[in-house]
Amino acid sequence: MKVLKFGGTSVGSPERMRHVAELITKERRNVIVLSAMSGTTNTLVEIAEYLYKGNIPGAQETVNGLYAKYMTVVEQLLTTMQAKARAAAAITRVFALLRSYFSEPLTEAGEKEILAQGELMSTSLMQCYLEEQGVKSVLLPALDFMRTLDSGEPDMQHIQVRLRRMIDLEPDAELFITQGYICRNDHGGIDNLKRGGSDYTASILGAVLDADEIQIWTDIDGMHNNDPRYVEGTKPVSTLHFEEAAELAYFGAKILHPACVLPAKLHNIPIRLLNTLDPEAPGTLICNSTPDRKLKAVAAKDNITAIKIKSGRMLLAYGFLHKVFETFENHRTSIDMIATSEVGVSVTVDDDSHLAAIVDDLKHFGTVTVDRDMVIICVVGDLEWEHCNFESKVLEALEGIPVRMISYGGSNYNISVLVRRDDKVRALKALSEKLF
Ligand code: ASP
Ligand code: MG
Repeated sequence: MKVLKFGGTSVGSPERMRHVAELITKERRNVIVLSAMSGTTNTLVEIAEYLYKGNIPGAQETVNGLYAKYMTVVEQLLTTMQAKARAAAAITRVFALLRSYFSEPLTEAGEKEILAQGELMSTSLMQCYLEEQGVKSVLLPALDFMRTLDSGEPDMQHIQVRLRRMIDLEPDAELFITQGYICRNDHGGIDNLKRGGSDYTASILGAVLDADEIQIWTDIDGMHNNDPRYVEGTKPVSTLHFEEAAELAYFGAKILHPACVLPAKLHNIPIRLLNTLDPEAPGTLICNSTPDRKLKAVAAKDNITAIKIKSGRMLLAYGFLHKVFETFENHRTSIDMIATSEVGVSVTVDDDSHLAAIVDDLKHFGTVTVDRDMVIICVVGDLEWEHCNFESKVLEALEGIPVRMISYGGSNYNISVLVRRDDKVRALKALSEKLF
């Protein structure tokens, strides 16, 4: 059994939905996770904002626009009168629910219910289409099995027991459809796994079902070896270790959120990134196997601030780093990169909302300098220290570019350098040229 997740653009129009239907009916008894049609969750957020502000006409207009859009999808997706009627009824029920919120002040629980409607609609439309096509598809309501604990973490045990039972009750089903993103919280209320959470759903389901593979279908051929917005001729990376994927995602490659990958990683379920627009392309396989001896990809993270604390007293002293780190902890600001020397330490943060207070506190320990508008460039691959030349190649590529910090050796998979924002594109291009 596999878990296949399709993102919003993959189900973003009737044609795209039909295409997804074709892809998912090639194999039997897989679990299909769908996002909301692209743009829908944003529109639902907008509706909730209007309601919070008491702007009912604003909410009405937005709801009406969305309703018209979905009625057009029903009309274009389906052929028979019965299928159209069934889908229209499901969509109409959703919009009756949305409209019921016009007459009362919006609560957080109400907002969550509103946000859940996108996935509920995309899955019921897909289910209607598959039924019309004669496919024995079963819709598994995520709200009947996806649950989080009071910590906000998925209740894996509960999800596993419920979902397996629901699947076992359908021995004739050819495939199963369910909603990404939505869940119930520990009070039983409707909730969600945060924006973009459908990938997380897929990873959780893959783990509890002990799936052969989790497939994340999007609009690009897997994870590219550099940022295609800045560098020409980037190529998909064929395999990545989970740790490499996590570093890349954290440092800017916008494909999979590192936290989302965790259940799959822990249960050792490979994740394959595939492209709905080019289904035969090999994509990227993310798994726990040892990395091939290669540098694989480069990513950049913008809006980084570097802070240097120089202290004459650090020489031979202990406890200095502790005090520095504690300062950041006190201001609930996490540190990304660190570089130390005998007389000082430099760190980077991406959240500068408490910067003034942090700098103020750090001045107790030494001279503080701040560099803004910096970029972390992260190179991932096999960087086990005994393997020679990988780090030297990275630094060679950056010849002529001022490098503010270097971090290497924290993991076997990553070397990060900090450069000025103005040097970012030059650095990305130089790395691609030298490394790939
Ligand atoms: N529909 C949700 C969102 O737009 C979840 C997802 O697509 O992953 O954030
Ligand atoms: Mg997404």
